[in-house]
Amino acid sequence: MSDPEDSNHGELILRVAVPRPLRRLFDYLPPAGQKVTRFRPGCRIKVPFGSRTLTGFVLGIARGSEIERERLKPAVAILDDDPLFHPALLELLQWSADYYHHPLGEVLASAVPASLRQGAPLYPAIDYWAAIATSEALSPRARRQRELLEFIMSRESVSRAEVREAGFNSDMLRQLENRNLLRKQTRSAAPAKAFQPLRPGGLERPALNTEQAAAVAKFQAAGDGFRCALLNGITGSGKTEVYMRLMEDELAHGRQCLVLVPEIGLTPQTVERFRQRFPLPLAVFHSGLGDGERLAAWRAAAEGSAAILIGTRSAVFAPMARPGLIVVDEEHDASFKQQEGFRYSARDLAVMRASMEGVGIVLGSATPSLESFHNAATGRFIGLELKQRAGGSAPARLLPLDISNQHLPGGLSEMALMKIAQHLEAGNQVLVFINRRGFAPILHCLLCGWMAQCEACSTCLTVHAKPPCQRCHHCDSRQQIPTRCPVCRQDDLATMGLGTQQIEGFLQKEFPATPVLRIDRDSTRGKHDFSKMLNDVARGEPALLIGTQMLAKGHHFPGITLAVIVDADGGLFSPDFRGQEQMAQLIIQVAGRAGRDSERPGEVLVQTRHAEHETLRHIIDSSYSEFAAHLLAERRAAAMPPFAHLCLLRAESRDRGAALDFLRRVRRGIESHCREKQVHLTGPLPAPMEKRQSRFRMHLLLRSQSRPGLHGVLSRLTPQLDGAPAPRELRWHIDVDPIDLL
Ligand code: ADP
Ligand code: ZN
Ligand code: ZN
Repeated sequence: MSDPEDSNHGELILRVAVPRPLRRLFDYLPPAGQKVTRFRPGCRIKVPFGSRTLTGFVLGIARGSEIERERLKPAVAILDDDPLFHPALLELLQWSADYYHHPLGEVLASAVPASLRQGAPLYPAIDYWAAIATSEALSPRARRQRELLEFIMSRESVSRAEVREAGFNSDMLRQLENRNLLRKQTRSAAPAKAFQPLRPGGLERPALNTEQAAAVAKFQAAGDGFRCALLNGITGSGKTEVYMRLMEDELAHGRQCLVLVPEIGLTPQTVERFRQRFPLPLAVFHSGLGDGERLAAWRAAAEGSAAILIGTRSAVFAPMARPGLIVVDEEHDASFKQQEGFRYSARDLAVMRASMEGVGIVLGSATPSLESFHNAATGRFIGLELKQRAGGSAPARLLPLDISNQHLPGGLSEMALMKIAQHLEAGNQVLVFINRRGFAPILHCLLCGWMAQCEACSTCLTVHAKPPCQRCHHCDSRQQIPTRCPVCRQDDLATMGLGTQQIEGFLQKEFPATPVLRIDRDSTRGKHDFSKMLNDVARGEPALLIGTQMLAKGHHFPGITLAVIVDADGGLFSPDFRGQEQMAQLIIQVAGRAGRDSERPGEVLVQTRHAEHETLRHIIDSSYSEFAAHLLAERRAAAMPPFAHLCLLRAESRDRGAALDFLRRVRRGIESHCREKQVHLTGPLPAPMEKRQSRFRMHLLLRSQSRPGLHGVLSRLTPQLDGAPAPRELRWHIDVDPIDLL
């Protein structure tokens, strides 16, 4: 191929994605005096944009532009010699911008640490010193200085850190420099070396049980290259051990492993387990990192010095120099779906990434999503199953407790209190699960029926006892608890329903001798609060733990023998089509915290007013897998995911009518095209939570059994939306594969 610049058909132009909500690339001339062919896709570039300068990404080089020559502007500077994204990662990002119909420039920007987004160099500039004289220049009495100079001469150049590492006082660098024996240069730090492949010989690890060994063997038998497995293993069945065994193979070949977990803050134990097992450098990615730490983790991943990359959702975009395996733990978890801005599913993108990188991927869960379940059932994924607990303990027994005709002062039935007392007396720990923080979800007037509601949201204010106030959990507004009803002016106000704080108070009174730990977002705000509580629990002394779903995720507390689910009914009548699935997952995950020690069998009490409800019966009497099969049959009959594909178009406005009108116009614009492509439209309708933060929320739902059909409509729709007349404050967005329709 000849150099494109030799030919004379028009000028070479850089195609650049800028971090703006615009669904197109922009054309630029190369920076003055630079050759276009130097610029490879994935390099950052500074470009003038309006009155500002932005950091964008080069995506390609084109011959000629549709813009007139005079109007093309030269870029300011190219920031990288080598692309920030390897080809497969860049391909993934482009694919996801298309799939989620989100502007590419924003997608690319969101995939890198903030400092890179702002144009900082990938490697910081560092000072290096080189010797320009020999040690003869120094008096023999300056022994240390001579030694340092000889050390520097033995290398091309040294950094301050290297000098210190070699045992010299780094102040001596300045002294030698002042005497003109050294020359200082500033250049960017060099990438660190790739990690040393693992030597599996010395690892301390348990022998796999038969099921685990079969799972590992089945995955390995699928060969190299892309393959995707669902590891469906009950809680405590040793899924992590299976991940680690598969990782071992890759690490021994010097290939990196990427592990995605729902929330690192909630499960610090997970990171610790990998750290303890593998004596290799590990890079952790999560939202709690500072800019510098994040950049360092990114670099370690990109250069290949980190062997294991562990992170939450956004780590699916972590670069990998030598990818070997991807693991998505608790793959059903909703936190893998980003719920604002670029609304991607990290689980789905992880599968796509594995396919583009040509590596293996394992999705693991005790309660797989119906999507993954279906993929395993139809053979798209390799199905791996662990049906027994690994440590020899039996799965906890679930016991429904009918509370329909009972008055429950603290939310707990006589039976539950009795069981709690028994388990505590036996020296065990008890988990009380209620998925609602605060004291009570409702404050109402017993005389006229008034309920305290948020002015900005269509929701009730939650009463909090610590500190006393009413709070909206959707807009975080706070106010004083009224002493009398604002409507009838009487003081017959009472709370209704229960939250963690109320149960905490109640149990403290019932069991004064036992430590009561409440674990929810309010009690764990401080950076170290949560890990301190986890450590307290891990000590294993008798204790009562009261918690929200923060406690349901993946923890391994051998001391817990009893879990009490205070109210299982919440999900039974959820308006969301995933309500039943999510409730089953939550109950099973909570139940999975009990009885993890083989010596002490576990029990789970499920309080309900609907003990005969089909869903509850399924969860209690059969396995999750059977229940999932049952739900899948329902989804098939209703033509809902995974048998159909959804896209939710949401519009929000301060003016209810404007949001509704906007979606009505959108609907009229695409109706005939939808009919043609067999895309079914529902709405516009008010969202189940119609008002939030003073904005009215309206939905238009698109559903189709054909993904290409749906995406065909969306591709036609987005340009229309971008240009549609609407009040300036109206916001809209597209949510492809929404996980909740609320
Ligand atoms: P899961 O991730 O499936 O919930 P874990 O990986 O946390 O399960 O395993 C539960 C417990 O069983 C852990 O304490 C783990 O160390 C132990 N375990 C796992 N596999 C084995 C094995 N093959 N032999 C002995 N103990 C095991
Ligand atoms: Zn009243
Ligand atoms: Zn509110």
